[in-house]
Amino acid sequence: MTVAVVLFTSDLRLHDHPPLRAALAAADEVVPLFVDDPGVRAAGFDAPNRSAFLADCLTDLDASLRRRGGRLVLRTGPVVREVCSVVAEHSAAQVHVAAGVTGYAHRREERLRDALAKSGIALHVHDAVGTAVAPGAVTPASSDHYAVFTPYHRRWTQEGLREICPTPRAVPVPDGVRSEPLPSRASLSGLSPGLPVGGETQGRERVGAWVRSGLSAYEEGHDDLAGDATSRLSPYLHFGALSPVELVRQAREHGGPGAEAFVRQVCWRDFHHQVLAARPTASAENYRTRHDRWRGEDDAGEDIAAWKEGRTGYPVVDAAMRQLRHEGWMHNRGRLLAASFLTKTLYVDWRVGARHFLDLLVDGDIANNQLNWQWVAGTGTDTRPHRVLNPVAQGKRYDPSGAYVRRWVPELTDVQDRLVHEPWRLPQEQRDELGYPRPLIDLADGLARFQRARGRD
Ligand code: FAD
Repeated sequence: MTVAVVLFTSDLRLHDHPPLRAALAAADEVVPLFVDDPGVRAAGFDAPNRSAFLADCLTDLDASLRRRGGRLVLRTGPVVREVCSVVAEHSAAQVHVAAGVTGYAHRREERLRDALAKSGIALHVHDAVGTAVAPGAVTPASSDHYAVFTPYHRRWTQEGLREICPTPRAVPVPDGVRSEPLPSRASLSGLSPGLPVGGETQGRERVGAWVRSGLSAYEEGHDDLAGDATSRLSPYLHFGALSPVELVRQAREHGGPGAEAFVRQVCWRDFHHQVLAARPTASAENYRTRHDRWRGEDDAGEDIAAWKEGRTGYPVVDAAMRQLRHEGWMHNRGRLLAASFLTKTLYVDWRVGARHFLDLLVDGDIANNQLNWQWVAGTGTDTRPHRVLNPVAQGKRYDPSGAYVRRWVPELTDVQDRLVHEPWRLPQEQRDELGYPRPLIDLADGLARFQRARGRD
């Protein structure tokens, strides 16, 4: 009997899974392995919301494997050591894994390759598992990655997608394979109450419903904060419970302006992944320096606390921050406004905001989170790095009735539409009764400080 190991990482699905398909084609039996690496936890990537979603994904993957005669094998420990132990226990001849884009994933690949090579075992790394188009598959003439979205999008759209891998009917695993018990969300505390359920099964159901009844209206509705008319597929994509290749194919088959706008957003995801794959340090360092002397916990501690708690006095920013805490998710327009407010109006280091998002977001993703934060802060790939979003004007535009604000900021339930985005204009008496804070900062003062800092006054 020949055996191959498939190391599952951020690709927790059976549909359209190139590493699993290749392993099944190459060996009689397969060990589907997930390693809970304490190194990942130590780096702060084990936020409770994502741990809960991960537990759902692992449970669902195990159930799907069992229906095919297999099971998921979980081991805890440093990933290279655990993979090597499983390989030795079953005399496996090959290991298959999806390519990753983070510095951690690059190091894991390198160290695995070296360790396995010592025993003559081949490591097969598969592209376009976590993205629709593999990072590096399309590059401009003069660089190893695209630094601007529009030309990337143009090239990406012309790039052919790989074929979908058929879902295996059977996944034979070796007899007596040893696994630790899988984690369960029931054992976790500190979860956001409105957290979605994870797993490939849920993800596929949601895609079906989305393509049937959400996609067509995406173009006109995706920025409407109260309408909540986006797919909410981001956590399933982050954990690889859905295949981005399959998703893009499905949307294109559906066709129409809604599908086109949606696929464009999935392209943003690939865009950030190809930037991070080429510049892994962009997870923590400015992609482009603007010589900022950001404020941080030491000199802006109270402002940061107010921002995190959703009591800045700017209703749309507060609504977004409260949605984050309650759902572990935030509307994209909310993310833009909350991030612009922190980095530009309060002039706080983007890393402080990115860390807080990673502590709560169920879709918290190094490529998408850090590079979107850098985009908003103007240290990333935005071609207009000094633009500042005005939370009042943006609130009126993207939440004209104030329904989003009222949903998350109950203090403002009874404020009439006209003033819901600027409650400080209410008569003093009425304002005092609200129990809602006054603005933390005057927008004009924030703007002036930012422009001075960027040398644009
Ligand atoms: P939809 O609008 O339905 O879009 C479909 C998919 O396209 C999303 O699921 C997502 O995978 C991708 N996508 C959409 N917008 C973007 C974008 N701007 N950049 C990259 N991919 C995109 N997304 C994350 O997945 N994880 C994060 O940690 C994350 N952090 C962010 C932080 C900031 C400051 C900002 C401004 C954006 C961040 N985003 C992040 C991007 C975006 O806000 C979310 O992907 C989106 O809101 C998820 O909701 P949805 O699935 O309904 O998206």
